[in-house]
Amino acid sequence: MKYYIFFFALLSSSINSYSQSEYKYLENKTYTYDEAHEIYNKMAEKYEEANIEIMGESDIGKPIKLFVISSNKDFDFKSEQNKNKGVLLINNAIHPGEPCGVDASIKLAKDLLSNKSYKNLLKNTIICIVPFYNVGGGLNRSCCSRANQNGPEEYGFRGNAQNRDLNRDFIKCDTKNAEAFTKLFHLCNPDVFIDAHTTNGADFQYAMSLIATQPDKLTPQLRGYLRKDMLPYLYTDMEKKNKEIIPYVYSYKGNLENGIKDYLETPRYSTGYTTLFNTIGFVTEALKYKSYTQRVEHTYEFFISTLNWMNENNIELKSVRNKAIEEIKTQTNFELAWKLDTTIFKKINFKGYETEQHKSSFGEGSTYLIYNHDKKYTKEINYYYKFKPTVVVKKPIAYIVPQAYSKVIDRLKWNKIEMKRLERDTVINVEMYYVKDYKTVKNPYEGHYLHYGVLVDKEEMEVKYFKGDYVIYTNQSSNRYIIETLEPQGMDSFFAWNFFDGILQQKEWFSSFSFEETAKEMLLWMPVLKSDFERKKKEEPEFAKSRNQQLLYIYKRSNHYENTHNRYPVGRIVK
Ligand SMILES: [Zn+2]
Repeated sequence: MKYYIFFFALLSSSINSYSQSEYKYLENKTYTYDEAHEIYNKMAEKYEEANIEIMGESDIGKPIKLFVISSNKDFDFKSEQNKNKGVLLINNAIHPGEPCGVDASIKLAKDLLSNKSYKNLLKNTIICIVPFYNVGGGLNRSCCSRANQNGPEEYGFRGNAQNRDLNRDFIKCDTKNAEAFTKLFHLCNPDVFIDAHTTNGADFQYAMSLIATQPDKLTPQLRGYLRKDMLPYLYTDMEKKNKEIIPYVYSYKGNLENGIKDYLETPRYSTGYTTLFNTIGFVTEALKYKSYTQRVEHTYEFFISTLNWMNENNIELKSVRNKAIEEIKTQTNFELAWKLDTTIFKKINFKGYETEQHKSSFGEGSTYLIYNHDKKYTKEINYYYKFKPTVVVKKPIAYIVPQAYSKVIDRLKWNKIEMKRLERDTVINVEMYYVKDYKTVKNPYEGHYLHYGVLVDKEEMEVKYFKGDYVIYTNQSSNRYIIETLEPQGMDSFFAWNFFDGILQQKEWFSSFSFEETAKEMLLWMPVLKSDFERKKKEEPEFAKSRNQQLLYIYKRSNHYENTHNRYPVGRIVK
């Protein structure tokens, strides 16, 4: 009897200590920035297989760290990757109000380091964890900035110290956080990347949905590998563990009845950015209506499933990715923009809740939708999963970026793009783009007036470049980054993000009274101009009546008009 009491006391005290001190998520709580780092620092001190390093500063001056587990105790990524070791990078608290990854990663690191039964998962993979990416947002804690989220009790805020959404900052890099991430990303050079989030919107039976790198944006080898091999494994493995997940629930034509469609993560987003370097990316989206414990456990199990796959298939994964990296160097055509292919879909089973309309207390006669958790259903719905390119460009031999655009040069350097500098002032025959049309968002978006719908004309001409300007050859493994940021039609190009807005404004002008005689003389001496001008008058009655329009037309054809107006300054060397 005594024995039994003793045993019971031991058992209950161990359960207690497990829940009270080891994992906060079991008590509907999440770690603070300091608590998380204290745990990681202790693990790095205790285990030779673990290491923690500062990768850079956040916008509030506190460090962004990288925690690494390497079973060989070797933290030189290059030498380990040469031995066919895969690298998994997990990013946490990019949105600190969605901290599942913070807690799941701490449990993952502890289990991998202390529990022998997990040792196999380390055999072929190095695990890199960013414990806390949005430091400023993480320290801005409160009970409830995410309305109706089911725990934890207190968490950080989405915006960082500049109130930027870091998950839109991977190309423009307005924050020090993004600069630090760029550095750590290229240091790790991960084969697989996971960014942990929590989602809202529709309610359904699953505790987690998943955004995978849109496979159509990957090279053909990686596309097939992800779509046909890796993704089906991950979905099946999660289901086996009774943690079934579903593709991100983004309703087609605004209604679940019409089905769901894949999310196009352009390079401003984490997995859109990692795609540029042939890294397979996942965004785990735990559902905010589920308990915090459930959400963290799903996130944790997704990490384990991914690690399982990476360890079992490291040779193939490395070989497919290395092939993609090699082929990108010689690929000639590059896609810059995509849209959903609405003609292709497959049927998937969706486990949801029946909805009901209830009378609202707000707005006379209004109703609102509720999900009835007692009425579960499984229905077949359409899943639109394919994207097709809408803009494709042939790469030049090289780009020339004038050193005047130092912010662009900085970002290229952070991304380890190889660049040569002109040794002397040189006139070079290049293809130049003229921006013919573009649209701009009306209100500031993430600190910018983002351009979209960019149309360009191409012209071959001699352009003077200066000693020290940057030449970027397109034979690099980073070709996708180079081309998608430097081609102005890229959905997240530097042009779209306002790095080249100076060119969009005309600097010199003419006075209409003094230009009258000049215009007359031009028509006299330039027969081609005269015939174009006469034809335009015939075809456009408004033009035929307007003195201003006619003088402007002639001015733009004169050598007084600046040929740099609307001329995108990055030259394309094609010969
Ligand atoms: Zn999020």
